[in-house]
Amino acid sequence: MDNPVELIIRKRSGEKIERKELEAIVRGYIEGSLPDYQMSAFLMAVFLKGMDKEEVQNLTEIYIESGKTIEFSSSLKTVDKHSTGGVGDKISLMLAPLAAACGAVIPMISGRGLGHTGGTLDKLESIPGFRTDLNEDQFRRVIDKIGFSIISQSKELVPADRKIYALRDVTGTVESLPLITASIISKKIAEGAQNLVIDLKVGTGAFIKDMDAARELGALLKRTGEKLGQKINIVYSDMNAPLGFYIGNALEVKETIEYLQGKHIPDIDRLTRYLVTRMLILSGNASNEAEAADRIEKALSSGKALERFADFIEAQGGDPSICEDLSKLPQSSETISIKVEKSGWIRSIACQEIGYSLLHIGAGRQKIDSRLDHAAGAYLTPKVGDHVEKGDEIGKVFCNDREKGLHTVRKILAAYQISDAKPKTDERAATDLILGKEL
Ligand code: URA
Repeated sequence: MDNPVELIIRKRSGEKIERKELEAIVRGYIEGSLPDYQMSAFLMAVFLKGMDKEEVQNLTEIYIESGKTIEFSSSLKTVDKHSTGGVGDKISLMLAPLAAACGAVIPMISGRGLGHTGGTLDKLESIPGFRTDLNEDQFRRVIDKIGFSIISQSKELVPADRKIYALRDVTGTVESLPLITASIISKKIAEGAQNLVIDLKVGTGAFIKDMDAARELGALLKRTGEKLGQKINIVYSDMNAPLGFYIGNALEVKETIEYLQGKHIPDIDRLTRYLVTRMLILSGNASNEAEAADRIEKALSSGKALERFADFIEAQGGDPSICEDLSKLPQSSETISIKVEKSGWIRSIACQEIGYSLLHIGAGRQKIDSRLDHAAGAYLTPKVGDHVEKGDEIGKVFCNDREKGLHTVRKILAAYQISDAKPKTDERAATDLILGKEL
């Protein structure tokens, strides 16, 4: 590569970087000749100055070409869902077994925690024995047997995203439309998904805060994936309150199992059914919404989706008996109650602050080599529009370090904006969870 400093400076000035130059940067970083500090500076320059459509397409293809691409027969109609990231977003965990129980075939490469959001892989790894580092053969075998598998990027599969994703997580370079697009589409092409539903999250807990930016990202994701031969539906969904009631790795696995056992969790239920419906229709596994809804209902009420989840855990080396005994999941030594300090109506929830406050107790990483505490997290009940009374317990923090836990409680309380006046409309009802779709 020419002098990498020159490329950093050119991107810093907003210049276009040619494909060969991008290739040299990415390859240099994977092979170790380009150090973390130069890659971080380059990523920050991309974050600040952006990339044009051609650069994004090139970067995505370079990510894909950094490893191998898995292919499945078109008769399998493979389909996947990927979220752009949110707080308490555990939807992949219930969605994959549910969609598989409805007849879909789902190859899924997921990510770890990113910025203030949690990651599917970290959640799954809280299950004793569970492995996400399967090779291609093992991945195919699990999909053959169970209908889905969830694995990590690896030295074989999108190694560029594996390494750059971890660096973005700790360098403030996550919320970049070009970097998000290359990261998501590369994984989804490399895993062999012929069809893809993207859950594009918008709001205080998402990387994208408003609909204009969301539509821009939606268009970029769709364009980039379709140029690589994938069929893509974009679903825009609200992320102004944590999804479900639990945030934290093992806690979100627990909530997944409770949901699959039949517990009604309104936002989780609505979004999961909606996304599975889109997956079944997009892939041709259902011909209309009524047919999809019927299959989804049967898979949930018969317990088949839960059975799939247990079989998947076992197939990837984990202990499936957690589905019968949730106490086998990692447990924290401390539980701290969260009590509101004033009465009123919840007007807004700064979900990003909640996510960051949980990194402090080990639910996510602050450095590349941070150790996670799988048991750490929170249980939070209020949603936007709810009324609370001073002294009400609105949730709990679970942690293994009381001092840090108390700090997290203070941060969480500060994230709830409580107003004296009753909202004119029921804001909870006014903020629909599904904000729109692009087919
Ligand atoms: N999900 C990903 O896989 N990558 C991103 O950059 C953001 C969300």
